[in-house]
Amino acid sequence: MPASEEICRLSATELIAGIEAGSFSPAESIEAWAGAMESDDLNAFLWKGVEGGAEQGSGHLSGLPVAIKDIFCTSGIPTTAGSRILEGYKPPYSATAVERLTEAGAGLLGKTNMDEFAMGSSNENSAYGGVSNPWDRTRVPGGSSGGSAAAVAGGLAPCALGTDTGGSIRQPAALCGIVGLKPTYGAISRFGMIAFASSLDQCGPLTRTVADAALLLEVMQGQDQRDSTSVGLEAPIELPSSTDLDGVRFGVPAELVGGDVGIEVGVREVFEQTLSRIEELGGEVAEVTLPHAAHGISAYYVLAPAEASSNLARYDGVRYGLRVEADDLVSMYERTRSEGFGPEVKRRIMLGTYALSSGYYDAYYAQAQKVRTRIAEDFTAAFQGVDFVVTPTSPTVAFPLGARTQDPLSMYLSDFCTVPMSLAGIPAISIPAGLAAPPEGGPELPVGFQIAAPAFGEQDLLEAAHALEMSIGFQRLDQREGEGA
Ligand code: GLN
Repeated sequence: MPASEEICRLSATELIAGIEAGSFSPAESIEAWAGAMESDDLNAFLWKGVEGGAEQGSGHLSGLPVAIKDIFCTSGIPTTAGSRILEGYKPPYSATAVERLTEAGAGLLGKTNMDEFAMGSSNENSAYGGVSNPWDRTRVPGGSSGGSAAAVAGGLAPCALGTDTGGSIRQPAALCGIVGLKPTYGAISRFGMIAFASSLDQCGPLTRTVADAALLLEVMQGQDQRDSTSVGLEAPIELPSSTDLDGVRFGVPAELVGGDVGIEVGVREVFEQTLSRIEELGGEVAEVTLPHAAHGISAYYVLAPAEASSNLARYDGVRYGLRVEADDLVSMYERTRSEGFGPEVKRRIMLGTYALSSGYYDAYYAQAQKVRTRIAEDFTAAFQGVDFVVTPTSPTVAFPLGARTQDPLSMYLSDFCTVPMSLAGIPAISIPAGLAAPPEGGPELPVGFQIAAPAFGEQDLLEAAHALEMSIGFQRLDQREGEGA
């Protein structure tokens, strides 16, 4: 039996292969990872506990523990969405995505920290404290799935679930040097995922490798009658095996990567090296145009808050979590919501309520919907000429804790390159592509490369990402530490 450090160096697919080969048992794997989770000094976990997964032969994921973002309802296990207003809430049921994993034999490995209600790009909006980036503990891990990304990058979990509304899987994956996949809207059921902006929210995996992302996607995807927007994928996802990009066409949109959009020099260098690598692997790189994509952030910050203001109306102190008593019902609502929600959530509720109010609806909400349609059409047109659209995932490497908390706009711009794909509903993956020094100097940090595909093009997306991943040979933090580097 390998020592637990060795188990904790394996990817999810390697772990399963190890169990199938009889090198160690599911129980040994779960125990090793439970120990890793317990050593969390990043504040990556809000609840540390393990459920299931240790039984031999309970499914093909038997022995694989998955860390779960605290936005997924888990039956009988605290679920806060990073908010005080849900403190103490234990859902009576589990999210479909979580259920599918456990039905396949996987275990649940803790609940991970996150920006409150998934609103944020640094995890600093969590009511339960920020999370450190394991590459540099003075920096953010990204957000809103910051705990999930830090846990996987920091060797505390082999893989994790996240959610992505405008970039919350891809951006933290990029900042932590791991893989993050946002599937097509509708590929995985949203049932039991606490709603932020329902027309954009999508569940997906944060993993060590592209193959691991494929493994989890296949288990979780599929139609679910409890989410009427879920459709699943057309065919089962297979583990990707491509090693070349012969004849595959990649489009670079000037609107998202042009000289004037604030991409850091180091990030741009890694992006350009990756484009050269695509050509070396037989792929073609062309310019494409997404004429409305640069308006993505503006449209998103009308639409997402509008949906949030409606979704968050249910937290009134009556049914879940926190209640702050008062003399009458309305005062109870007011006090509960004033004390239960943090400042960013309040800002979103106010923005959204304003955008939806009579007299402003057409000027803001209806207009933003039109922009959204234009952006979706831009991608459809671009995909006439190329197979994929590529950008840096984040314009910057991980920034210092506190650097953007006083400046919401600079925080919102973290998602400049990821929001357009969310608005279009298309799948996109971030893979680690290299390292770059931050502009203020200091040790080098991971840079993510984003690849976006047409709706339901996950298999092709995973194949291309896998070929690139094999060629890049990025050394993850756990691999560096494993070598004592
Ligand atoms: N950072 C974006 C926001 O704050 C996206 C968050 C997400 O994808 N959940 O809304």
